[in-house]
Amino acid sequence: MREIAHDTVRETFDTPIRGQYDTIVCGGGVAGVAAAVAAAREGARVLLIEKSVVLGGLATNGLISWYEPICTGTGKKLMTGMAEELLRLSIAYGPDTLPPEWKELPEEAAGKARCASHFSPALFAMALDRWVMEAGVEILLDTWVVQALGEEGEIQGVVVENKTGRSAYLAKTVIDTTGDADLFFRRGLPCVNGQNYLSYVAYVTDQKQLQKAVESGNLLMARRWVNPGSNLWGNGHPEGYPEMSYVTAEEVTKFVLDGRARLFEIIAGEDRLARDVTVLPAMAQVRKTRRIQGRYTLTEADCGKHFSDSIGVAVDFYNRGRLYELPAGILFHDDCPNLFTAGRTVSADGWAWDVTRVIPTAVASGQAAGIMAALRVKQGVEADEAGLKIIQETLASRGVRIHLD
Ligand SMILES: Cc1cc2nc3c(=O)[nH]c(=O)nc-3n(C[C@H](O)[C@H](O)[C@H](O)COP(=O)(O)OP(=O)(O)OC[C@H]3O[C@@H](n4cnc5c(N)ncnc54)[C@H](O)[C@@H]3O)c2cc1C
Repeated sequence: MREIAHDTVRETFDTPIRGQYDTIVCGGGVAGVAAAVAAAREGARVLLIEKSVVLGGLATNGLISWYEPICTGTGKKLMTGMAEELLRLSIAYGPDTLPPEWKELPEEAAGKARCASHFSPALFAMALDRWVMEAGVEILLDTWVVQALGEEGEIQGVVVENKTGRSAYLAKTVIDTTGDADLFFRRGLPCVNGQNYLSYVAYVTDQKQLQKAVESGNLLMARRWVNPGSNLWGNGHPEGYPEMSYVTAEEVTKFVLDGRARLFEIIAGEDRLARDVTVLPAMAQVRKTRRIQGRYTLTEADCGKHFSDSIGVAVDFYNRGRLYELPAGILFHDDCPNLFTAGRTVSADGWAWDVTRVIPTAVASGQAAGIMAALRVKQGVEADEAGLKIIQETLASRGVRIHLD
């Protein structure tokens, strides 16, 4: 039934329940796929829901395609577990730019080069399909998560919209890896918005790049990452252009159309036979839209600090030797203990938000969230002192480094 008032429409209808899971993961970016596979490997029945038709999020659909370092910057590999596993997978079927000394991902390597690589977003996305399905995760593509079920306390599942219509899926635990903390926000849990410069990255190929590819024998050289907007530090941000959070449809639309128009301006004036825009991004390339305010908020002051509840470690991709432990409290809010987040929406502020949002750290927090969710369902493990010990033991048994020393 739909009643139209002067400024709202009141809708009431029954939504069919189409499934019941141990864990539902909302959003199939790198954090989401890691969370889904981690939960499934612990025996949970997992549904992964993704609004696009390609897994990988910003890393693939967003054309980011540069796996930030998993090493300390002082010659030691730091991040292990799925952060390392997905670095391997991202380059398993396509070209890479891993420095020779890091090719086998050893524990240590001499020299200044970082253990980081470019990858093919398309091949990484296809590899993710297989990786996720092999773990036994069920996938729903082209499906928007639109609502959290349950009024207060524990979340009971989600409502989705897709070609089938509107459906509900029940779950004992839910992981919000939408990249925008959509479920936390819609449930009324505390969230913080970011501010972003304009950026729009596309792949361009031209005669010079093709020549480089032929000479080097590496097809990654055939593409050029063109960004007519700004880099991370605001260089290239158009004068007078507002910095925004991009958490409304209007803001996202403006961001994408303005970025694309700027690219078109650059490209349209060039010799049309000498270059091509080979790939446009399939999602808005915003760094920090909205993140949760969890039990703990990580800041730059936590660099190098020991956390007794750490669930993984992270590397400052820009400043060598600056390393972090990731406390469990950045993944959830105590008002809804069976709802977790991971990736670019964990509770971290300032530069620590930048450290936690990049691909390897997003994968690491995804793995931890997946394991926490599965252990909660399978063994009743809570995020208290006793439970965190079990969570840490499980993470360690899966090859994850928990502490810096
Ligand atoms: C311009 C730019 C440059 C960057 N450069 C680098 C770099 O060089 N190296 C690096 O490591 N990192 C870089 N990053 C950061 C990194 O790419 C992302 O932060 C990281 O990939 C985020 O992963 P995620 O899984 O948390 O989120 P996302 O990749 O955003 O994934 C979220 C997924 O959820 C889906 N989704 C969203 N809402 C819903 C919904 N309601 N229902 C269902 N599905 C939904 C989306 O389609 C998406 O697939 C960059 C980011 C940007 C924007």
